[in-house]
Amino acid sequence: MLEIAALRKSFGDTEVLRDINLRVGQGELVFVIGPSGSGKSTMLRCCNRLEEPSGGAIMIDGRNICAGTTRDLNRMRLQVGMVFQGFNLYPHLTVLKNITLAQRKALKRGKPEAEAKAMEMLERVGLAHRAGAWPTELSGGQQQRVAIARALALDPKVMLFDEPTSALDPELVGSVLKVMKDLREEGMTMLVVSHEMGFAREAADRVVFMDGGVVVEEGTPEEVFGAPKTERARAFLSRVM
Ligand code: ADP
Ligand code: MG
Repeated sequence: MLEIAALRKSFGDTEVLRDINLRVGQGELVFVIGPSGSGKSTMLRCCNRLEEPSGGAIMIDGRNICAGTTRDLNRMRLQVGMVFQGFNLYPHLTVLKNITLAQRKALKRGKPEAEAKAMEMLERVGLAHRAGAWPTELSGGQQQRVAIARALALDPKVMLFDEPTSALDPELVGSVLKVMKDLREEGMTMLVVSHEMGFAREAADRVVFMDGGVVVEEGTPEEVFGAPKTERARAFLSRVM
């Protein structure tokens, strides 16, 4: 469903991603770990071209998103849902309006259809009862679940998560991970950057360890956490686990 092939990205003279190869099959959850600055966010951002790759290809459902016209790009962007560390909800819009806005603008859905879809997605993340609330009235965990609902409302083929729980108080992390676990069970294809190793053990099909802009190691959670093959992975895991 998502295939990253020979992806390279430089900022000026600094090469941040060097020949990244990664596949996420339909319905798979692939978990990405690695030290700060190793290029995890840049890789995710290349997957919907928030960053322009310097080389390589990114295939979503068999189509290279690095080729094609602007119109193609906009359509393909919609197929890749993205959830960030900060929830980025519009503070001046209600929860419902936050979820209907992109549907109406980007997908040209009419109001009743967009609202029905929004309610369905809010139901999915357990927040249908907060449709009329303002973002500031919600906890961080609830805001992040609204952000997930907003992404899902655009019917993405792949969901990318960049440290979705890093900004949350510890007691709110579980509710967001629960939503992600449900999504996985429903067959969503997901690429997740996170430090929640317990979640990775439970929910990830594969774990990818990045360092210095390359994939250093890849395997099942048991393989990577239980018996890391490289010294770099061992050193990183001993610091974070
Ligand atoms: P991670 O998410 O693994 O912490 P990032 O992808 O954010 O890593 O960053 C990888 C490297 O790229 C870092 O050295 C960072 O400073 C650099 N970088 C990221 N974005 C930019 C940018 N817009 N301009 C210049 N350098 C950047
Ligand atoms: Mg990052």
